[in-house]
Amino acid sequence: MATYTPMIQQYLQIKADYPDAILFFRLGDFYEMFFEDAELASRLLEITLTGRDGGTEERIPMCGVPYHSANSYIHKLIEKGYKVAICEQVEDPKQAKGVVKREVTRVITPGTIMDGKLVESKANNYIASIFLLQHSNQFGISISDISTGEFYSTIIEEDFDHVIHELILYQPSEIVLSKKLIEFESVLKQYLETNLTWLDDEITDQQNYYKNLVYEQFQNVKEPLEAIIFSAGMLLDYLHKTQRQKLIHFNELQIYEAKHYLILDPFSRRNLELTETSRDHSKKGSLLWLLDQTETSMGSRLLRRWLEKPLLSKVAIEERLNSVQALYENPLVRDELKDLLREIYDIERIVSRISYGNASARDLYSLKQSLEKIPRLRQVLVENKIDPLIQMMGEFDQCTDIYSLIDESIVDDPPIGLKEGGIIKRGYHPKLDAYYRASTEGKQWLQDMERREREITGIKSLKVGFNKVFGYYIEVTKSNLAQVPTDRYIRKQTLANGERFITEELKEKESQILEAEEKMQELEYQIFTEVRERIANQNPRLQRLAQQIAIIDVLLSFAKVSSMNGYVRPQFNQEGRIRIRQGRHPVIEFVQKETPYIPNDVELDQESQQILLITGPNMAGKSTYMRQIALIIIMAQIGCFVPAESANIAITDRIFTRIGAGDDLTSGHSTFMVEMLETKQAILQATTNSLILLDEIGRGTSTYDGMALAQAIIEYIHDHVHAKTLFSTHYHELTSLADRFSRIQNIHVNVMEKDGKVVFLHKIEKGKADRSYGIYVAELAGLPYEVIENAKRILRNYESKARNLKNDGKEKAVQLVLFPLQAENNQLSQTNESRINKEYDKEIIQQILSLDLLN
Ligand code: ADP
Repeated sequence: MATYTPMIQQYLQIKADYPDAILFFRLGDFYEMFFEDAELASRLLEITLTGRDGGTEERIPMCGVPYHSANSYIHKLIEKGYKVAICEQVEDPKQAKGVVKREVTRVITPGTIMDGKLVESKANNYIASIFLLQHSNQFGISISDISTGEFYSTIIEEDFDHVIHELILYQPSEIVLSKKLIEFESVLKQYLETNLTWLDDEITDQQNYYKNLVYEQFQNVKEPLEAIIFSAGMLLDYLHKTQRQKLIHFNELQIYEAKHYLILDPFSRRNLELTETSRDHSKKGSLLWLLDQTETSMGSRLLRRWLEKPLLSKVAIEERLNSVQALYENPLVRDELKDLLREIYDIERIVSRISYGNASARDLYSLKQSLEKIPRLRQVLVENKIDPLIQMMGEFDQCTDIYSLIDESIVDDPPIGLKEGGIIKRGYHPKLDAYYRASTEGKQWLQDMERREREITGIKSLKVGFNKVFGYYIEVTKSNLAQVPTDRYIRKQTLANGERFITEELKEKESQILEAEEKMQELEYQIFTEVRERIANQNPRLQRLAQQIAIIDVLLSFAKVSSMNGYVRPQFNQEGRIRIRQGRHPVIEFVQKETPYIPNDVELDQESQQILLITGPNMAGKSTYMRQIALIIIMAQIGCFVPAESANIAITDRIFTRIGAGDDLTSGHSTFMVEMLETKQAILQATTNSLILLDEIGRGTSTYDGMALAQAIIEYIHDHVHAKTLFSTHYHELTSLADRFSRIQNIHVNVMEKDGKVVFLHKIEKGKADRSYGIYVAELAGLPYEVIENAKRILRNYESKARNLKNDGKEKAVQLVLFPLQAENNQLSQTNESRINKEYDKEIIQQILSLDLLN
């Protein structure tokens, strides 16, 4: 190292502290990268790799980007999952003895980037931490968005699957965790599109240090559980180390329990297309897309959070619904609120930039414009007696003092730059006004001088001008040069068609004017940062206001969508009943314009209608019906009206769905395996208050195998789980379960024949579907008579076998079909299953056997 030049030595020292980041090393107007960083960055950014003499024989690889356009390069690297450490010159190079002092001022990572493509205004950019408290086997997880100041923590017991489920709700772009958790790397990567930052044990073992960090940062923290403290502390520590400044906009640690919200596993979220479609992962076509009529980004982000966490508390749900109803009934208020909200900027993110010290004068001006709307916003609610919303909001701190401060100090429509002046209002600061006067007087003097000199010299076209190199000058065109008073004028520059001069007097005034301007700019900047700091001290108030605005925005959006689409207010009951009259699927009814959506009822309870078996042909609308029930419940529990004529529901704690072929291709499991895994989750975790929606379970394997499984699952749910369940099936044999089990009912989707064509009525009716429906359709389609007759005969044959199976007792039937290979010599197995592809079955059976259904 001794052979390197002092600057390269300095570089290497700093780089040693940031081995996992690309170091942007400030050198004059450039950020330079050296060694491997240079090789990597030149490739990633497609910039030229050069070399630099560093004291050794070989030149050091180097590449650089201009300081003023560095942001776009940084964003590119972050998008590719890298981290960038920004190393600045921290002393004036003119005053430096030897190498200029340099320090890393910020490390930018995917989870901490504040602007650029990754930070969409309508979505949060979350960073998370996972901490495993070994002695209690608890995972503490914390989630934060530094661009808004949110900070959440929760505890997940034992099961890492649930950690994944929780994190999926936030889609963090970065997760910080100890190397001790390396065993979970592949599952994290499988389910989350995220960047993992691994911390060494020495860091994650400093638990007392973490504790202090948390208590220092959050005034609201009392005595939280250890796992929470450590995960929050770990995340705070990482944020401090990357941001290298106080995070004064983090004011509240919001501790919550996942079980206080309706739980939906990732499969079900995807099935139900809550925030994105399962086909192309776009927001368009999802429930979020339908419900999001918010006017502000704050509202849009909050709506997404609400949709990720439907409530279980009836009081809290009714509170939201009361507000939605008040707005629903008052379209004029809705219109006016909408117009006001539209003018409100993203206060949450402005506040964060203010506390970060990188808010511009424009940000403050936008804040002022937003605050200007608050008194009217409040007035609209009060005047129109929108009481539930007023109650919910609590006192509105209108932050008028902050409004006045900005109004007095910052000009309207300020420029982007902060260093060139022109941002502070006249009359705000006496000294600034004095400089301003001096500068304007100076300029006046210049004008007077121009006039005077024209008179003295008789040169009408004489002009006073300014450029950065020569300062102020007097310009005379070629034809007038003879008239120049050579005793006073000093030649400075020759142009193609004239000359430029200065005079003693002009130079004297020039230094006065320039000094005043320079001082004015410096002072403006100083005043601006003071104003910004004064606002930063009020951040908690602004954050609270931003929250209130977001809530109004979301409730307004609910009211608007509900009124637009004819939704009704849901009712809730304690008896475990779900009774929906004329329910609709909100998204399909919205997008499917050409054919009217057919509404359907549903009736589920704990007594006679716990499990509904749905039969009916493909494309009849079975899965749509099941999804619509789940969506109505979710909408009700986030406090929105629902697409139905009436809905009375029991608050649901979990919804499990296995609908459609939502194959989990990334996991490498077969469709059937995924189906079984999801079913396992449902039947083991559901409570009496849960809803299970299973679509054609068992179809992924041979008929009897699948049917036996389906039946066993239904019986298990009936006898042990007691959750309300909808089960659609092709296995007609299963409909007979309704005769034997008290809480199972059959329903079916009706179809009819019209002019020789099958018409899907999409109407749900009681009872089972017509068994020979498929053959009927084939007949309609004109298949040869012989085929149809033969099919009918084979069907009768199967049916009588099924009856035999049933008479043999269910135990035997299930066992037989589940393990046909073990029962190889069994008579029934041989006769029935001769067409089975044995190899295929062997694999499935191995899979089923390895499922631990009872744990
Ligand atoms: P299944 O699950 O029975 O195969 P789907 O639920 O997938 O059938 O429905 C097939 C299509 O029928 C849907 O994509 C939708 O366009 C239409 N559909 C379903 N239910 C209704 C309904 N109640 N009203 C109008 N169209 C419907």
